[in-house]
Amino acid sequence: MSPRAAAVALALGLGLAGLTACADEAASPSTSSPATSSTGGPSAATSSTEPSTSAPPTTPKPEKPFGGRRVLAISVDGLNPTALSPDLTPHIWWLFERGLGTVNARSEFEKTVTLPNHVGMVTGRPVLAENGGHGVMWNSDRAGATVPSAPESIFTWVSQHGGTGITFSGKSKFTIFQRTWGAEVAPVVIEPDLDRLADAAVNDLTENARTFTFVHLAEPDHTGHAKGWLTPAYRRALAHADAVVGRLLDAVDADRRLRRSVVVVLTADHGGSGRRHGGATEPANYTIPFVIFGRGIAHEDLYAASPELSDPGRSRPDYSGVQPVRNCALANVSADILDLDPVPGAGCNADFAVASEGLN
Ligand SMILES: [Zn+2]
Repeated sequence: MSPRAAAVALALGLGLAGLTACADEAASPSTSSPATSSTGGPSAATSSTEPSTSAPPTTPKPEKPFGGRRVLAISVDGLNPTALSPDLTPHIWWLFERGLGTVNARSEFEKTVTLPNHVGMVTGRPVLAENGGHGVMWNSDRAGATVPSAPESIFTWVSQHGGTGITFSGKSKFTIFQRTWGAEVAPVVIEPDLDRLADAAVNDLTENARTFTFVHLAEPDHTGHAKGWLTPAYRRALAHADAVVGRLLDAVDADRRLRRSVVVVLTADHGGSGRRHGGATEPANYTIPFVIFGRGIAHEDLYAASPELSDPGRSRPDYSGVQPVRNCALANVSADILDLDPVPGAGCNADFAVASEGLN
């Protein structure tokens, strides 16, 4: 059993109190590995491990592309964070117990449906054009549709810097990414079966050195519509999605290169109540989780650690004033993790710098 799996098992046995108590020693095996510099920073850590000689200083190692990091982004479709618990969702809970996160993030202000929010995640933009948004107002798989004016995205930004990205999704409408930015820059794998989707994503994660991997887990949303949010059926679907999160985390944990490089960002497009989530003014729909976990990321409450952001309570702030963290922060948070400037045109949470929380 890997250290991560052991920690999850411990959490299941002990509950939250036990999990909190053991957080330090169980925290990411990577933090206890030898302190070779992985951050691409000015080689202070590297020089301290070299023998001290009178020889001329060696040429500094070239900085690794993307700071030596990769992003694994996970969106759990229709994840109402009130359903999270150490028993039902041990793997997502594990991320919150070790990462920088909040269960009080916000969806896009304008819409609480799937496609506008996911296009927001990868472009870092609001929805409405007058808000500087991407303009995808629809939520269906429109034949041939592309994102209006094809703005920059985390896919194009990573590609321009020599990296690669990919999306795994349970819903065919995500092919809009590939149509908009091209199959080379933004390939999309559609697999409605959750376990087969997990197989494909895990295989790609371990076989291909992607810079940005986006995994969309559709099942909780499907079951929410069919049986109702927060019903036993919805909770089973959420547990299934959580098991896939666990498989992805285990794949990272089992591979030293991945363990050292991958930063996980998990969020959702919207929550839900009853059998719906379309009402953008309802707290159950616009309240979502957002958590970042990986080497160098401190375990803290995201709002407590981020003075540039403000916990919105139960309110629904628009895009003026101090912002809550939104799911559309994914683009700029990923760029920040990858040592890139913000995605051009991406105004969503552009001042939220993960690096200031200790990443570098
Ligand atoms: Zn839905």
